[in-house]
Amino acid sequence: MTSIRNNWTREEISLIYNSPILDLIYRAATVHREHHDPQEVQVCTLLSVKTGGCVEDCSYCPQAARYNTDVKVQKLMEVHEVVNKAVEAKESRSTRSCMGAAWREVRDNRDFDKVLEMVKGVNSLGLEVCCTLGMLTHEQAEKLKAAGLYAYNHNLDTSEEFYGDIISTRTYDDRLNTLKHVREANISVCSGGIIGMGENDTDRIGMLHTLSTLPQHPESVPVNALVPVEGTPLEDQEKVSVFEMVRMIATARIIMPKAMVRLSAGRVRMTLEEQAMCFMAGANSIFAGDKLLTTPNPAVVQDQEMFQVLQLKPRVSHKDQVTAHIHA
Ligand code: SF4
Repeated sequence: MTSIRNNWTREEISLIYNSPILDLIYRAATVHREHHDPQEVQVCTLLSVKTGGCVEDCSYCPQAARYNTDVKVQKLMEVHEVVNKAVEAKESRSTRSCMGAAWREVRDNRDFDKVLEMVKGVNSLGLEVCCTLGMLTHEQAEKLKAAGLYAYNHNLDTSEEFYGDIISTRTYDDRLNTLKHVREANISVCSGGIIGMGENDTDRIGMLHTLSTLPQHPESVPVNALVPVEGTPLEDQEKVSVFEMVRMIATARIIMPKAMVRLSAGRVRMTLEEQAMCFMAGANSIFAGDKLLTTPNPAVVQDQEMFQVLQLKPRVSHKDQVTAHIHA
């Protein structure tokens, strides 16, 4: 079985990333089968619990207050509304419920207390609860863990070198520090990035290198294709090809064999066949639901059809914990 390594070099990752595409897919599919059930795909739902008005300047994001987009600012949702949405998500076979708030960072105030209540409520439904709330201190991570948080998402977005071209209001180290706080609180780490923002292959490899050389690999690695939104600085970026997505997914699968590699934003612009190729390359997680925060996503019924055609089955919730218990 492929060993888990945290000492990958950029050169090694570059060789994998640049290998002939069919060899790359074959190798990734082989690694995938050593560590995962290839029929199994995790279904996650992402709900925007506080939308727009963000002070940050992420060039891809329609929720940044400084860009002129169609996004309407919405204050933090009520706890019961979020729990009701999670019930709906569970009924449509989602096992991970992710809540996103357009914040630069978590503040210790009533809104955070409300988020803690949301986490408790959704956790009580038996779903894996994930949050993406911006930067987080060690203490805040501990509070989220105590409330029942299963995972925390904080994407690196891109390579350290290209990061400054995309975001100027916080640093790469800020990102890494939040990931450290999440890890120290024993919360599952979800971190990946976006392609199609004008970065080059070296940047894509650089981001994968940073992720795969963290002391522990993230348990989830979302790979997003930019969905350009009018009014943002990246509105005119060209669509990435499926082969670029496949290269990222397959490389992530090979260098981080145990991670759930999530085919995230951008699915709405992919055919079923293209998505099938991504699953073949080692993706085993998706975001379901008609919206991904504020951008469109395939309809639930379309995904249900895709699961049928490709004979996929949704991964059960808390599988890692169940497996760990069985093997203890
Ligand atoms: S990605 Fe997050 S932090 Fe960046 S502008 Fe959007 S909501 Fe704010």
